[in-house]
Amino acid sequence: MVLVELGRSLRASLNKLSTIGGASEEVIATVLNEISRALIEADVSVGLVKAMKEKIKAKIELTSDSHINKKKLVQKAVQDELVSMLQPATKPYLMSRKKTNVIMFVGLQGAGKTTTIAKFAGYYARKGWKVSMVCCDSFRAGAFDQLKQNATKLRVPFYGSYTEADPVVIAEKGVAQFRKEKYEIVLIDTSGRHRQEAGLFEEMQEISAAVDPDNTVFVMDGTQGQAVYDQAMGFHDAVDVGSVIVTKLDGHAKGGGALSAVAATASPIIFLGSGEKFDDFEPFNAKSFVAKLLGFGDIRGFMDELQSVKDKDAEKKTQANMIKGKFTFRDLYTKFESMSKMGSLSKVMGMMPGMGGMASMMGGDMDAKFKTFKFILDSFSDDELDGKIDIHTAPDRQKRIERIARGSGTHPAQVEGLLQQHKMFAGMVSKMGKSGMMGGMDEKKM
Ligand code: GDP
Repeated sequence: MVLVELGRSLRASLNKLSTIGGASEEVIATVLNEISRALIEADVSVGLVKAMKEKIKAKIELTSDSHINKKKLVQKAVQDELVSMLQPATKPYLMSRKKTNVIMFVGLQGAGKTTTIAKFAGYYARKGWKVSMVCCDSFRAGAFDQLKQNATKLRVPFYGSYTEADPVVIAEKGVAQFRKEKYEIVLIDTSGRHRQEAGLFEEMQEISAAVDPDNTVFVMDGTQGQAVYDQAMGFHDAVDVGSVIVTKLDGHAKGGGALSAVAATASPIIFLGSGEKFDDFEPFNAKSFVAKLLGFGDIRGFMDELQSVKDKDAEKKTQANMIKGKFTFRDLYTKFESMSKMGSLSKVMGMMPGMGGMASMMGGDMDAKFKTFKFILDSFSDDELDGKIDIHTAPDRQKRIERIARGSGTHPAQVEGLLQQHKMFAGMVSKMGKSGMMGGMDEKKM
């Protein structure tokens, strides 16, 4: 998870509200001080943190009703203020499937541009978009090879040149070729360095003028904390930055500062990078991000993601079941399938309330475990999958487990493990169904 340390401190402080003598004024003050300290340690600017603390205090004081649950009130105020601090002022560019979306990536050398382009390409390719890449970094030796290697791994077509020195020519030719071939997304990697400092912006402007990108994405290194503000402003003014991707937020203490500083430049953050692997990449949405950071889970983000992967009939049935608080083994199967399209399973699990814990509880190679689970489910009968026979309570439960283990080439203990996971998950869905947490979602849209 991104910003592990900050998340942990914030959660620990908020938890005090229930453990130390309810939510007296004294406790609330301590909690707010701790939260402020945690944010400052994550390099969020002192001014921003102070203003935020005052707003939270004012909100709490305004609510004089003593019957209101103070813990919930403080939690909600903290959550709302963090969201508003991270909410970018402008909306990002939305890609259309009806055209070739040309996206140009800019940023200083070493920020993670080439890696981010690969992650971005993988993210959309997995969702079924036709993606391509163009390397017009002719300054750094090896830049084209790096992009080529990534593209080959992802099975995405690429364009570049070992002999052409003019990045503008490469960009023009690459974009023209992929436009002709009706690619839905063309990602352009630009150089992050130039012979002369001022030349860098000039080159970006020339490429931009030549290919007229639909969006310019600024990739920035999140390890620099709030110091990124000036850099972000510089790029914002020079090349009409449409959105930002912040990288290297894996376990880095200053990430909070980087995020709040970018939000302050009014450029929307669209993705976060959290590692060197292609899967270490997640869409950014301030509300979902804060909910996850505070450990509230992100059921909405999870649903949005599910809807963006192939919308199959099976998934619609599962959603309809979940809204009713029902969750069969077939639903579990459908979820495994959809989740594997969404990327790394451990990350997807982190979005589900309570599921992050389950992911770490399962330990080891989660993706391998889920594969085994799918084999096991393949050996279920239709009635068992659909819950017409409840395997949990069936009198011949043990026999069924043994049959399924034989059929799937697994050990009965592994089948038992899957049953336990299902029980937990189904219990949670049922609780959410009853509490109305799954409600309010537009069934027609699913
Ligand atoms: P570019 O010069 O901007 O194209 O940067 P690269 O994509 O070559 O990345 C520079 C270094 O940062 C490489 O070693 C990457 O593996 C690493 N990197 C990129 N993104 C991340 C990230 O999100 N987390 C971590 N830990 N490393 C990253």
